[in-house]
Amino acid sequence: MSQALLELWQVRREFPSGNGRITVLRDICLSIHAGEFLAVMGPSGSGKSTLMNVLGCLDRPTAGSYRINGIDTALLGADALAQLRRNTFGFIFQRYNLMADLSAVENAAIPAVYAGMPQVRRTSRAVELLKQLGLGDRLHHRPSQLSGGQQQRVSIARALMNGAPTILADEPTGALDSHSGEEVLRTLHELHRAGHTIVLITHDEQIAQHAGRIIRLHDGRIVANRVRTAGSVAAGVVVPDNVPPNSAHPPAPVVFAEALSMALRSLVHNRLRTALTMLGIVIGVASVVAMLAVGNGAKKEVLERIQAMGTDLLDIKRGLAAVRGSSRGVVTLTPEDLPLLSTLPGVVAAVPESDGIAVIRYGNKDLQVPAVGTSETFPEVRNWPLQSGTFFTSADVTGYRLVAALGLSVAQELFPEDESPLGKYVMIGTAPFQVVGVMSSKGVSSRGYDLDYQVWIPYTTASSLLFGRRYFEDVSVKVTNASLMKPVEQSIHAVLVRSHGEEDFNIRNMADLIDTANQTQNTFTNLLGAVAVISLIVGGIGVMNITLVSVTERTREIGIRMAVGARSFDVLVQFLTEAVVVCAIGGIIGVVLGVAGGLATSQAMGWLTVISATPCVLAFGCAFLTGLVFGFLPARKAARLDPVEALARD
Ligand code: ADP
Ligand code: MG
Repeated sequence: MSQALLELWQVRREFPSGNGRITVLRDICLSIHAGEFLAVMGPSGSGKSTLMNVLGCLDRPTAGSYRINGIDTALLGADALAQLRRNTFGFIFQRYNLMADLSAVENAAIPAVYAGMPQVRRTSRAVELLKQLGLGDRLHHRPSQLSGGQQQRVSIARALMNGAPTILADEPTGALDSHSGEEVLRTLHELHRAGHTIVLITHDEQIAQHAGRIIRLHDGRIVANRVRTAGSVAAGVVVPDNVPPNSAHPPAPVVFAEALSMALRSLVHNRLRTALTMLGIVIGVASVVAMLAVGNGAKKEVLERIQAMGTDLLDIKRGLAAVRGSSRGVVTLTPEDLPLLSTLPGVVAAVPESDGIAVIRYGNKDLQVPAVGTSETFPEVRNWPLQSGTFFTSADVTGYRLVAALGLSVAQELFPEDESPLGKYVMIGTAPFQVVGVMSSKGVSSRGYDLDYQVWIPYTTASSLLFGRRYFEDVSVKVTNASLMKPVEQSIHAVLVRSHGEEDFNIRNMADLIDTANQTQNTFTNLLGAVAVISLIVGGIGVMNITLVSVTERTREIGIRMAVGARSFDVLVQFLTEAVVVCAIGGIIGVVLGVAGGLATSQAMGWLTVISATPCVLAFGCAFLTGLVFGFLPARKAARLDPVEALARD
């Protein structure tokens, strides 16, 4: 005798039950040859469906062997079994097991997805099959819009989608009226005539009489095995021969496109749920993008201000970094230090500053303003040009002259609009000073005070007339070249320590200041990053939760997909895609809202915002990654489902 197509040898199937195990199939020895029409009969609970699941590679025997074309299925991995389900077997279930959201054509076409057949071709094949089965006018109906008989014919089309040399039908007529049942049976006969091997489970003696052989199960054992000749039926169904490819690894793009379309379908189907889940991701991404835009704006503003002061400046301040003052009561940073500093190599000029508050009066107006005692090189060193007039000269400084340059705000407050302050006399303290110039505007300092609300007078005059002290708060040293900052800083340090006898000063360098500002900003950025990570984790947990719900709700669908040949990996991809799509869409919306929010903030608050691509791309990338990470667990749960159990789920 020729080799059997399907060969069970001493197959046993046990299930755990309570503390023990129940044996559902015992010592089943059965050979099915290609082209046979076999009916399996037996009372309910006798193990028919269990036998069918073993035959269809949805389930494995506990003991014994099952060979297909001589190959022991025990040696095959999960993917190889999926390939067999995909291309060798076609399942027809009593309860049709169609997917409620899909049309007849889409339902019938599913097995071809997992065989890697492109969409256009699988649709045309599904249409052809449905027409053959008399459903040409029901192609785009949903299962709920079809009668039982029609649904069962859709499921037959699905079974035939990948060619299915062997059709396994588990009580296909059990839920049908007698007329529809007869049609289904006729179709099975036609398929038998067309060369398919048919295994049909039925309760009905009448139906069984159509088969070429009947086996009877009782309590998990084969109790009868009778061959008879079937009545002849004219062949009607011709299965189109454009079958999908039979490969172990169908092309990924086809499966992925299906996953994407299923994901979108499911997300649209559960709109509110999707929107709420997405909200977490949207809020996280949007807040990061907006806050970074504002933060970067603030950083840019601070850096611009520091740069406006000059990056080639060294700032010498009185006193130590700590509270320790000059221990010997020596007055430090005095006019005597200036020539020492300005003659150092690499130094352009050294500009002292002594600060105090003075009352300035013109006509009947008086103001309290910060007064700065300084030298003639102030505008050059501090990069602060005059708006009108000139700054005072070195002769003014050495001559203790009563001259002043006014900040723009001071000039505007003291003098009417049509009166030029130049050459006028203002009272500063108790002495009349001649206004020689008005400074250009510098706006508001990083600490928030108006830089234009100051007056400048020679430090000589300031110390003798206004402040009554000889020392300076600080001295700014302009260096010829920014690359000389370090060596000049060292030589200043050496010269001052030598002349003062101790280190009673601090040298700050603008480059350090910029570093500090940058560091502050980086701390801020890291903080934002932490906020982003936390909100994405929260959002991700939402995504994980909803994907788990989705897996639970669609367990049966997963079972169907596995039964028609989806590999675990395909199921994993499907649910992972769903999670990633939620996060990616959330990410895009978040970026758009974040940019809009950043712009709105800058509009409303008058802040500078810097919107750049990097944070947007990064935030989106993180959202995408969140989908992958948090979708993985539920997707893996789906991929690990047992097809038989999944199919049994309601
Ligand atoms: P039939 O299809 O002939 O009605 P089944 O093959 O579905 O019978 O089931 C046979 C017996 O095996 C039943 O008693 C059923 O309760 C039991 N059974 C089937 N599947 C499982 C399972 N996964 N776990 C425990 N018992 C099972
Ligand atoms: Mg059954």
